[in-house]
Amino acid sequence: MGLLALGTPLVWDEAKKRADQVRQLGIQQLLEIWNSYRGNERDILLWGDEIEYLVISYDDENKNATLSLRQAEILDALAADEKLRKAGGGVPEINGTTVEFVPSPYECYLVIGLNGMLTVYRKSDPLPTFHPEFGRFMLEATPGAPFSLSWKDLLSVEPNMKLRRTIAKKHMAPHETPITLPAFPRMGRDIFTTPHYPATGSKSRSQFIPDECINPHIRFPTLAANIRSRRGSKVAINMPVFYDVNTPRPFLDPTIDYDRHLFPEDDDVRNGAAKEGHVYMDAMGFGMGSCCLQITFQAKNIGEARRLYDQLCPLGPIMLALSANTPILKGFLVDTDVRWNVISGAVDDRTEEERGLKPLKNNRWKIPKSRYDSVSTYLADDPRLRDEYNDLDLVIDEDIKKRLIDNGMDERLSTHFAHLFIRDPIVIFQETLDEPAEGKADHFENLQSTNWQHMRFKPPPPGGNIGWRVEFRSMEIQLTDFENAAFAIFTVLLTRVILSYDLNLYIPISKVDDNMTRAHIRNAVLDQKFWFRKNLFPPPRMGSRAGSARTSPASTRPVTPIAVEEEYGLFTIDEIMNGTKDRECEFIGLIPLIESYLDTVNVDVITRCELAGYLQLISKRASGELKTGASWIRDFVGNHPEYNKDSQVGDRVNYDLMKMVERLGSEGIAGDGKEQELLGRRG
Ligand code: ADP
Ligand code: MG
Ligand code: MG
Ligand code: MG
Ligand code: MG
Ligand code: MG
Repeated sequence: MGLLALGTPLVWDEAKKRADQVRQLGIQQLLEIWNSYRGNERDILLWGDEIEYLVISYDDENKNATLSLRQAEILDALAADEKLRKAGGGVPEINGTTVEFVPSPYECYLVIGLNGMLTVYRKSDPLPTFHPEFGRFMLEATPGAPFSLSWKDLLSVEPNMKLRRTIAKKHMAPHETPITLPAFPRMGRDIFTTPHYPATGSKSRSQFIPDECINPHIRFPTLAANIRSRRGSKVAINMPVFYDVNTPRPFLDPTIDYDRHLFPEDDDVRNGAAKEGHVYMDAMGFGMGSCCLQITFQAKNIGEARRLYDQLCPLGPIMLALSANTPILKGFLVDTDVRWNVISGAVDDRTEEERGLKPLKNNRWKIPKSRYDSVSTYLADDPRLRDEYNDLDLVIDEDIKKRLIDNGMDERLSTHFAHLFIRDPIVIFQETLDEPAEGKADHFENLQSTNWQHMRFKPPPPGGNIGWRVEFRSMEIQLTDFENAAFAIFTVLLTRVILSYDLNLYIPISKVDDNMTRAHIRNAVLDQKFWFRKNLFPPPRMGSRAGSARTSPASTRPVTPIAVEEEYGLFTIDEIMNGTKDRECEFIGLIPLIESYLDTVNVDVITRCELAGYLQLISKRASGELKTGASWIRDFVGNHPEYNKDSQVGDRVNYDLMKMVERLGSEGIAGDGKEQELLGRRG
């Protein structure tokens, strides 16, 4: 969670005058944390996921599905129930093999049939917690306490996710339901919320999204308004339309009102903000209103956290493509499969100078990326990290870097933070400037938590016993908890493999950026190749020194490493996940690697079977045997009788899709066995 302090937020003109002050206080807080926690050793491995939901409101009579704006009421109901639960009471009742939920207090068990096996959610297991999100139609839920690495905990991930969904649903109105889909298909299109509001709000100034869609906590509307003010125009997101046989060519987004004169920003579209052939979106809500699956790991010490950060970094775009679930935006089928660039564009607060459209005059730097974007620098203290891998023209604040180095932080970590701190704090609460900064992290978090990169390096919060953590942030939320659990568990097991086998996944970071672009392309998971390292293993031990010395005295010197360009190549995701023998470099594949890791640890047969089910989902998504959510949804739309092959996803198609997605999420069923194309056959 970012900060949710209540107070008086500064409008942008005031905030920008205090930006340096906040940065300096933030660095002061970072240094305090660094000094207190850098020596942490042997923190235990803990990890946890975050699931984000859209709250759908049905009008069954008119066959319409919209976004419900009742986030606050639902969270209030959840909080009230939490109190009730703490009061205790109630006898558990176990019943049946499907998701069975006995009303609160919740120490009663949830029993789920997994492959015919009952999974019992224990009385002592802490309840999940629910959090607000940017969209007033969103919820976020995390496990009540982080998971350990125990097999019991790994197998409780999916039941825990199901429990979250069930609890969330219990606290909604009968016509409402939580779904796990990254973007609402008709976001920003006609009447898409309940209740309906016209798009005339002064915070976003959007033509499509009313300000009432934003979480009303003052931080969020201020975030939207200040990003727009800092940028000097509305954000402009253009995603390529999917041309179907009846889509007009050229495609000009028909939803844009070129004649609106409500705000100066209405000029944006008259000045060419919307691109031909693209769906145009103009507000933060299009991006920050979408849902993702994030996984946070605690490492045993800072060194391990830094290593994990770097090693997981190249997997960001691969897992983005593999989890693709966003084929529809603003009521149009698009030619991309993932949400990432929508969010990136939705919070791009860079001025024209920073975007390189005008010569620098008022700003300090030209900045190549949005503050929501892929990672731009590796940061591990690792001899395998060659300078050539950090090959982006990284913008950093030299003064901040010097201050960090002067205070004992090493070059690479200082560079990482000096890069994050090139940004301005967007929302500053006046009150926080009047209070002492010591012993807190609020100013640091102000910058840290509004640098939305695909990995996040999370220092310990001051005063507690939480360790150094790393967050994996690129994945799309999946339609079912089986899939969400599979992606989470795959990522967790992969971290074990990375650490146990000392894997080296480094490729130049510019190639990670390139992979991010590839991951967006429709059906990238099967059609694109991605840059990946050919040999992940540590080099074999050198032969006998005497032997080589005889042939050449020079060979006693350290071996010259091969050229960086030789280290990586283009692979399909199938090859990366499942391995290949067809190439000059035999590549074992990440899933076989995880399997061989599981062979070496003590795991019982039932657990091994369950884990295999999750790994198989990932493996079959990679090979194309199973469809991604994106491809499954495209087929659903394509086969719907009311779809006219013109890229338009109308209200009725949307309604039926939402019903299907709800059913998939709650029962794992889509009718006619259609779920098998997505999920395979379980058991
Ligand atoms: P944010 O929104 O800042 O990313 P959240 O608090 O929403 O963070 O979620 C963080 C996730 O990390 C949750 O799943 C939580 O269970 C998990 N978590 C909490 N404490 C730890 C810890 N010490 N180590 C690892 N994961 C943790
Ligand atoms: Mg969170
Ligand atoms: Mg968050
Ligand atoms: Mg969130
Ligand atoms: Mg998070
Ligand atoms: Mg980018």
